[in-house]
Amino acid sequence: MLDNSVVSAQRLLRSRLGRRLLILFAACAVVPTCAVALLSFVSVTGELTRQGRQRLSALAGSAGKTVYDRLSFFESDLRRQGDALLACAQQPRRAAASGCGEDLLYAAEGIAASSRGPIGILAGRRGSVDPLSGLQLPVLSPGQSTLLVRPAEPAPALYLVHRPETSSETLLFARLSPDYLWSAADAQGLPGSITLDLLDADYASVLGASKALAGLSHAVSRAVGQGAVGSFEWNDSRPLLSAYWTLPRTTGFSAPLWRVVLSEPRADIIAPIAGFRRSFPLVLALALLAVVALSLRQIQRSLLPLDELGKGTRRITQGDFRTPVRVSSGDELEELGGAFNVMTARLERQFRALETAAEIDRAILSSVDTATIAQTVLDRVPELASCEALSLTVLSPDGEPAGTTWIELACGRGLRSMVQVQLTAAEILQTQEQPEWMSFGTGIAAIPGYLGHFENGLDVALLCCPLYHGGELLGVLAVRDDPTRRSNETLLDLRRLADRVAVALWNARMMDQVRVLAFYDSLTRLPNRVLYKQRLGQAIGRAQEDGRRVGVCSLDLDHFSRINDTLGHGLGDQLLQEVAVRMQACFRQDDGADAGAETLGVQVARLGGDEFAVVLPALAEPQEALWSARRMLEAFQQPFRLGSQEVFVTASIGIATYPDDGPDTETVHKNADVAMTHAKEEGRNTVELYSASMNSEALSRMQLEQELRKAVELGEFSLWYQPIVELRTRWVTGAEALIRWEHPERGVVPPGEFIRLCEDSGLIVPLGEWILRGVCAQIRAWERAGYDTPRVSVNLSARQLRQRGIVRTVQDILAETGVRPGALAIELTESLLMEPGGTTERRIRELAELGVSLAIDDFGTGYSSLSYLKNFPVSTLKIDRSFIVDVTSSADAAAITTAIIALARAMELDVVAEGVETKAQASFLRERGCQKAQGYLYGRPVPPQEFTQYLEARPRQRASA
Ligand code: C2E
Ligand code: CA
Ligand code: CA
Repeated sequence: MLDNSVVSAQRLLRSRLGRRLLILFAACAVVPTCAVALLSFVSVTGELTRQGRQRLSALAGSAGKTVYDRLSFFESDLRRQGDALLACAQQPRRAAASGCGEDLLYAAEGIAASSRGPIGILAGRRGSVDPLSGLQLPVLSPGQSTLLVRPAEPAPALYLVHRPETSSETLLFARLSPDYLWSAADAQGLPGSITLDLLDADYASVLGASKALAGLSHAVSRAVGQGAVGSFEWNDSRPLLSAYWTLPRTTGFSAPLWRVVLSEPRADIIAPIAGFRRSFPLVLALALLAVVALSLRQIQRSLLPLDELGKGTRRITQGDFRTPVRVSSGDELEELGGAFNVMTARLERQFRALETAAEIDRAILSSVDTATIAQTVLDRVPELASCEALSLTVLSPDGEPAGTTWIELACGRGLRSMVQVQLTAAEILQTQEQPEWMSFGTGIAAIPGYLGHFENGLDVALLCCPLYHGGELLGVLAVRDDPTRRSNETLLDLRRLADRVAVALWNARMMDQVRVLAFYDSLTRLPNRVLYKQRLGQAIGRAQEDGRRVGVCSLDLDHFSRINDTLGHGLGDQLLQEVAVRMQACFRQDDGADAGAETLGVQVARLGGDEFAVVLPALAEPQEALWSARRMLEAFQQPFRLGSQEVFVTASIGIATYPDDGPDTETVHKNADVAMTHAKEEGRNTVELYSASMNSEALSRMQLEQELRKAVELGEFSLWYQPIVELRTRWVTGAEALIRWEHPERGVVPPGEFIRLCEDSGLIVPLGEWILRGVCAQIRAWERAGYDTPRVSVNLSARQLRQRGIVRTVQDILAETGVRPGALAIELTESLLMEPGGTTERRIRELAELGVSLAIDDFGTGYSSLSYLKNFPVSTLKIDRSFIVDVTSSADAAAITTAIIALARAMELDVVAEGVETKAQASFLRERGCQKAQGYLYGRPVPPQEFTQYLEARPRQRASA
């Protein structure tokens, strides 16, 4: 307790205000006290001194009178006795008779003195009386008396001198005993320590120096100027107060300027106040102590609360709202402390609300998926609003009045669940009518069905905030609470939170969409190339840890473009979707319905077009990938139902594994692609495991592509021409332009080795334009040279035809070169005709409208039904060489060829047999009615200057006809 107060006192003294107050209090107490004490001391001392003076003066007066009376008595006695003495001296007998001779000494002209009684009388002549020698005799009138002092030790000798009236020569001397004038008894009669002195006119002590106060004569000599009576203060080793009284002069008797001086030590005079003086410092000290103690206590009572309030304020700035200030001063400061605590509590509530709101904001706005947002809301809302239960309903993004509700049935106890809910049109309308709040339960309004999870048989009250964003209802936040405790503040907090949740849900929805767009293929809903790469990377990462393998299957549909072209893009897309479903199903079958591809970790992805890829994680052997791939191929054995028709589709699959075929995602994927290309080259509908040699093939292909690009720039291409003849007459009726690449090292490279690469790489577009221009220029050159030039046909690849502006290009080139459209034929592959109503059909028509003649190349290899042909403005069919080669040896080939020829004739189309090499073939064809042929039998493709031989022969041929 004492320690405490000492500590708090120390603390107070460290505080500047505390020190100031303490000094103020102490000064207020000490200064007046000291002033009063001093004043009283001074006035009491003064009063005592005054009284002492009065008393001393009075005493001096009375003592003086006593001395004077005694002197007067002596004088009168001397006078009386002197008369008697003189009488005795004049009549000695009578004197003897009267006995005076015994008692008195008489001298006629001398001095009388007595040693007896108060007055001894001496008698004799002057000079004979020893004691008087050396005395200056006074001059006295007759009857007059005076006093004489003869200095002597230890006390001066006093003499009373009288001149009798009767004798002019006689002086009577009487020696006075000082004791008689002022005896020890008299001195004792004086009160206290008062001493009396009798000073003569020379201020010498009459009573004896030993008795007198040293220095008194000096002091008196200075003071007497003041008058016959008076008092003064002086110092004689101690302060003294003295009063004097001058003996009066009478006619008969004079004691010239004798003074009675009474002295008393000042200390004795002011003795009554000495006690006060002694005790005053103690009293003052005590009073000061009391003042300090009391003021400390008082300051403490005011300062400690201030200190506490200061600390409280500092705590608030440091974010501590929990510790209240403790002020128990019992006054206004205590009230202030109470108000401060109330304010702090309010601040805390608001601060916490803000903090919680900010945290919720951060949490929900940083959550990118709906479920996390819902969990965050369930976690944090109870901190903001007092609630018993709450739920967040999130509507599905597809616009259906259905959604998912996350429920916390007992706030703080984590009793969570999730249900699917359905909203009625009326319920949605209700949220539109009350977009801010909706109140349900406790007799106000029935709880809507989608919030039915709150109904527990009791009367519950619900506060709901519809979550709108951009005018779209995203969900409903519902809180079960006590309606009597709803304050405006919490309502606003909740509403604000609801707005933020709405924004977060909207963001999540957007993010979902972005995620789907960024990572999923919109057609098949399979992961796209980006996600596939990610997943493959993850799988490889895991494989690095567990030492297992990752297989990658690269799957490409065989002749998909043909299907696309034949059946149209709509059905092509449908096929891709169906393929995606079957591929996923491959990895589901084994493990029952529950274990989806995702759970197995297998990822089926569509990389684009008809290109698919499958990631097979955690393989023990590369062989396992092969089994999976075979299973996929089996999945293609059933026909696909597309619209009204069934189509058989096959696929080629390449496999590469990590780490066998590559150390990273890129390499493994690339090698799986290489293996797939190889599978295509191996005849399709097959699986190839990657081998290192495949890469060298791919490498050489890449090299070739680079060389091709350079060749275009360097003009290494040229056009050769092969004659087309009339079978019957062998007359040259046309020519086909065929491209040749004169490679600086490899020599002439046939188009079979690079046309496909040109198509794949897109080089065919500029190259094709170059060919067209070259052919037209050649026609024009031959015509200028005067040749009767037959129609020259040019091969146009499917990719060129799909090129926008191809018709315009042909038209421009014709115009540029000035070639008649009829002089040009364009050969198209059969598959291009399989898209009735599409853009290719439109382009074909537009080409025909230019006046260019159209031929179908490689006819018979496509899947098209011949009936399509009638929809197109085609004039010629070219039967594929593969039929002609076997036409004499294979019944099938012969039958197909015969049928094609018959059909073409029926449709009034020209038929050209390609690749006729033997006379047998030629005669077979002729017999079946085929009009035209092209082949080595009639002429190989040759450079234009060599082709002129055929041109030169033409007029002759015609002439010979
Ligand atoms: P295609 O359009 O069917 O051209 C006929 C091909 O058959 C030519 O091969 C020709 O030399 C060859 N040929 C002609 N008669 C016989 C024969 O009796 N026996 C044999 N074994 N072959 C014969 P080439 O020139 O190697 O062209 C191959 C293919 O390359 C062409 O087939 C065509 O599809 C394409 N091609 C050639 N030049 C061009 C061109 O300028 N543009 C486009 N887009 N493709 C071209
Ligand atoms: Ca051709
Ligand atoms: Ca052909």
